[in-house]
Amino acid sequence: MQIKPIIISISLLIFGNVSAQKADSDILKTKNGTLQIQPILHSSLVLTYNKTTIYVDPYGGAKLYKGLKSPDIILITDIHGDHLDQKTLDSIDTSKAIFILPEEAAKKLIKKYDNEIVILQNGQGVHRLNFFISAIPMYNLPEEPNSKHPKGRGNGYLLTIDDKQIYISGDTEDTQEMRNLQNIDIAFVCMNLPYTMDINQAASAVLEFQPKIVYPFHYRGQDGFSDVEAFKKLVNAKNKTIEVRLKNWYPTN
Ligand code: ZN
Repeated sequence: MQIKPIIISISLLIFGNVSAQKADSDILKTKNGTLQIQPILHSSLVLTYNKTTIYVDPYGGAKLYKGLKSPDIILITDIHGDHLDQKTLDSIDTSKAIFILPEEAAKKLIKKYDNEIVILQNGQGVHRLNFFISAIPMYNLPEEPNSKHPKGRGNGYLLTIDDKQIYISGDTEDTQEMRNLQNIDIAFVCMNLPYTMDINQAASAVLEFQPKIVYPFHYRGQDGFSDVEAFKKLVNAKNKTIEVRLKNWYPTN
């Protein structure tokens, strides 16, 4: 019984200084399988349903994806470097991946891929590998052509995986399209200023569309991190049934 503490201390010695320690993954049982949710960095996450792996906005370097299966699908939400990170795409194994992305992002891909590339406009959807993936508008308010995220350029995504509906917000404010969502099991919602929205807007929208589980992500702003603990309190003060999951989306900090 004395061996265990020794092993722990040795592993701390060996791995203690490794900075890119990923957040723990979550497992969700679906009707016909298991969905694993792995937060990576900022707005990047990896979803694995049974044997199929989806990378969302791969970003931050290959080291963060070490130990994970290579992607069958890569979803990209927008053109900015924290979503379309060519360097990271170049450093991971994309050989079997289907790319699903908005047109403007497809135009910005530097490498010429032999892969299947599916361009989705806002409102369009596609079936691939037993999933249905549809593009939800993501944009800043008020709507202006010169805004950081004009309506129509980027895609949030709604994924139907088995009997679960998963919403990935992309970079957006609390749009009517977000507020109108229904039957969402899991939502990933951005909150950072001045790029997307503050925690009050995010909480207000979440209280309206009432996902079963919400992960605040993409919360590193110009002046540091948004207060996701306060976001959780805002949501749960008005609705205790929404589970707010706080994860470390910035393992390299
Ligand atoms: Zn962003």
